[in-house]
Amino acid sequence: MKHISVAIDGPAGAGKSTLAREMAKRFGFLYVDTGAIYRTVALHALRESIDPQDGGTLMAVLPELRVEITYGEDGLQHMLLNGEDVTEAIRSPEVSMSASAISAHPGVRVFLLETQRQLARDNDVVMDGRDIGTVVLPGADVKVFLTASAEERAWRRTLELDAKGMARPYQEVLDDLKQRDYNDANRSVAPLRQAEDAIALDTTHLTLSESIEALEQLITDRTGRSPLPREEDEEES
Ligand code: C5P
Repeated sequence: MKHISVAIDGPAGAGKSTLAREMAKRFGFLYVDTGAIYRTVALHALRESIDPQDGGTLMAVLPELRVEITYGEDGLQHMLLNGEDVTEAIRSPEVSMSASAISAHPGVRVFLLETQRQLARDNDVVMDGRDIGTVVLPGADVKVFLTASAEERAWRRTLELDAKGMARPYQEVLDDLKQRDYNDANRSVAPLRQAEDAIALDTTHLTLSESIEALEQLITDRTGRSPLPREEDEEES
């Protein structure tokens, strides 16, 4: 049976990972966070003091890099860098900025492309990123382009960092986010843009549950799949 793929693209902080993870859970699909893959390469570059702009040096180290995705018993995606679990380490603001820079190199993108496509060949997936609907899975069954205003995205990210004990001033978060938006939208290879057949969903004025309901409906309509029975539904019946 052909596997279903749902592509969710959009700028940083639009809620892609929260929504993609929730959709994966509801439909029983695998959640693939492609940003984490770029972050893993970025972490290696940072540790080796490689300038993220220096494509030549980056390309030279790629062959010795093993970037693997595993799924823990918790069902969550873990990233392995040469065998080391770096799932937590790739979440720092330094890695965010470095990932934004290294992902502009065509060689890095090609290096990571097949890993992403293979996951979609083997599983029903909800995959989030910047170029999933345009480059990685152009034939995806559902394509969503998720946006929100930069200010709203920065607020959400500020609260999220606060909750994780990694508090940063709002203005700093907003500036970083705008810089990453600019990098992602203006790079020459696989820039962030809405696929022609993607559906745009602006979540600026939507609550999380409204966004969830909208996406669930969209996936049901496009794929003919229904969400799995949920525990509370089972308890009711
Ligand atoms: O999604 P996340 O913010 O974790 O991604 C980190 C960086 O990786 C982004 O700023 C973007 O530059 C890059 N990225 C990409 N293509 C993807 C996913 C992420 O270029 N499919």
